[in-house]
Amino acid sequence: MVERKCVGCGIIKNRDDLIKITKQKTHQDLVINGDSKIFGRSVYLCYNNSCIEAAFKKNKLQKTLKTPIPQELKGKLLNEF
Ligand SMILES: [Zn+2]
Repeated sequence: MVERKCVGCGIIKNRDDLIKITKQKTHQDLVINGDSKIFGRSVYLCYNNSCIEAAFKKNKLQKTLKTPIPQELKGKLLNEF
């Protein structure tokens, strides 16, 4: 079992129970729940709005991925999960 830490609440969970956001190495695009062929720096979040909100509030995604995070990504995450 692969375990990852949610950047919103800091709890370690099974990777399959977390949203994965990857900054692609090749063209810097942010991919949500991409397949294993996508390589790059990733952050993980629980499937709940409070973790998504917390991560954005603390700029965790920006800090971990070392890239500016577009506002629409937050909306997308909140809408989809
Ligand atoms: Zn969480």
